[in-house]
Amino acid sequence: MALQSTPNHTQTVAGWAAHDSSGKIVPFIFKRRENGVNDVTIKVMYCGICHTDLHHVKNDWGITMYPVVPGHEITGVITKVGSNVKNFKIGNRVGVGCLAASCLECEFCKNSQENYCDQIQFTYNGIFWDGSITYGGYSNMLVADHRYVVRVPDNLRMDAAAPLLCAGITVFSPMKDCQLLDSPGKKVGIVDLGGLGHVAVKMAKAFGHHVTVISTSPSKEIEAKQRLGADWFIVSTDDEQMQRGKRTLDVILDTVSAHHSLGPILELLKVNGTLAVVGAPSRPMELPSFPLIFGKRAVRGSMTGSMEETQEMMDVCGKLNITCDIELIQPDQINEALDRLARNDVRYRFVIDIAGNSKL
Ligand code: NAP
Ligand code: ZN
Repeated sequence: MALQSTPNHTQTVAGWAAHDSSGKIVPFIFKRRENGVNDVTIKVMYCGICHTDLHHVKNDWGITMYPVVPGHEITGVITKVGSNVKNFKIGNRVGVGCLAASCLECEFCKNSQENYCDQIQFTYNGIFWDGSITYGGYSNMLVADHRYVVRVPDNLRMDAAAPLLCAGITVFSPMKDCQLLDSPGKKVGIVDLGGLGHVAVKMAKAFGHHVTVISTSPSKEIEAKQRLGADWFIVSTDDEQMQRGKRTLDVILDTVSAHHSLGPILELLKVNGTLAVVGAPSRPMELPSFPLIFGKRAVRGSMTGSMEETQEMMDVCGKLNITCDIELIQPDQINEALDRLARNDVRYRFVIDIAGNSKL
């Protein structure tokens, strides 16, 4: 069993945890390690609520180690710096996303793709190098290895930037892989308009593409077009609209959190089109062969992004002034927010005001 009682875990932290698959979040006091030579200590200011947090607190994927302190969309300010850390100073505005540790030696770690290291450990529900279970950003303080920390550009708000650390990088990375960063004018589809989906729409528009949102919620059409700048909106449950969309898109990003078939989505791709899947429903998605082979289409996956890419994404967002549309909540509203997230009732990301800044 991993040890929360590791001897150098001396710092007392106040956080919020779920203790079983009811997913109910309650206040939780725990210990974090002392700030090591490679570490920075961060006063957590804001933490986004990702659907992955919901999957974890409910044990949807069967991998949760309780108590779980979720949160991997963290922004805050550095309060301590280890002696080996040269690139951060006390007072820097920083962010921490999904990654807490990797082997640092494999081909992926050596080539700035540590998100694909097979020993990758996550910011929560992971096992750190010292054997302790990692606890995430629903807490007032974090100790992070500096290699998994990025800077938040000065012009971005710390609350609205927090979800970039997961939602933002998770959609940026496959967009980059599909050459959407530097070749404008493509037809891009974003399946569903949730936390990931809404940032994807903003990025794809900012990169100069024609953007189609494919959603189960007709009520999101006006906002998708007027606020987020989408060019076209398809209600995925409307067969006629789906028929009209056939063979229109070069690249589609699927960010759906619930079980669904990829067949109708593949039909929307042109011949040779690519479907990049980032959503992670607990049950396998259906992948019928006909829409795949008749259009020589490809399906690929993508898991968050590397640290280098995460910094690149933050800098691009700084340059283009991209942040998330958020609903700021206090920690005592986390359970209500998780319930609303489960009901698809959020526009488009809950962010927890961990440090109580909005009360000042
Ligand atoms: P979210 O904010 O809850 O958005 C999910 C969206 O899915 C909803 O807004 C809704 O959009 C749509 N949806 C909900 N129920 C549906 C259903 N029954 N059928 C079809 N569509 C449905 O979630 P999120 O935070 O964006 O996360 C989305 C998924 O990505 C989660 O599974 C999460 O674990 C995963 N994820 C993966 C990575 C990665 O590295 N690959 C990183 C982060 C998150 P509409 O109302 O528009 O249909
Ligand atoms: Zn996430």
